[in-house]
Amino acid sequence: MQVLVRFTAVYCQVNHAGEKSGVAVSDDADGILTTGRFSVCTDCRAFLAYAIERRRRCPFEPKPACKHCPIHCYRADYRQRVRTIMSFSGRHLLLRGRLDLLWHYFF
Ligand SMILES: [Zn+2]
Repeated sequence: MQVLVRFTAVYCQVNHAGEKSGVAVSDDADGILTTGRFSVCTDCRAFLAYAIERRRRCPFEPKPACKHCPIHCYRADYRQRVRTIMSFSGRHLLLRGRLDLLWHYFF
């Protein structure tokens, strides 16, 4: 989920005005942490909290990439949002030569 947090932060930085607060996620933690080196607005924080909660409840082990998942547990609007964030931030990082970050792209 580190990648989703990172990508959401990039997307939020460019596209959302408004107050932002720190966010971080640990794969062992129950949810998002309120501090961290990434910042997102409250709207994006709610989105991340939802995404992390869904992933935590994923019944598959190992977890498939979400686009290959037979369940599609994300709400349709959030799934669309993941796609938007991933493609925007993927392009954004690509233009800045941060290809290294894309190797971890898992959606
Ligand atoms: Zn935002």
